[in-house]
Amino acid sequence: MSMETIPKDLRGLRACLVCSLIKTFDQFEYDGCDNCDEFLRMKNNRDNVYDCTSSNFDGMIAVMSPQDSWVCKWQRINRFTKGVYAISVSGRLPAGVVREMKSRGIVYRPRDTSQK
Ligand SMILES: [Zn+2]
Repeated sequence: MSMETIPKDLRGLRACLVCSLIKTFDQFEYDGCDNCDEFLRMKNNRDNVYDCTSSNFDGMIAVMSPQDSWVCKWQRINRFTKGVYAISVSGRLPAGVVREMKSRGIVYRPRDTSQK
């Protein structure tokens, strides 16, 4: 864990469709997602960054101590790394990625809560 998890720039920000972590496009391309890169494989893969993150998100939560925070529990991010997270992320994960997650026993729950 390092400062690299915090967005470096307020422009070009994107949120991960799986865990809602917010970083810049370049950071996702350079480091991948700190929580999900094992199956999203965005590191050095611009296409996957486009597919698995969204520039359309609402709200930001800065998280220092995820496991102790009720907000993080509410957002289901209490097991993730420290960083900045979106409250709602619009967009759909490609079906192939959802299948890949399923095969690893991970249930994909869309982060888009703006419609409810
Ligand atoms: Zn993620």
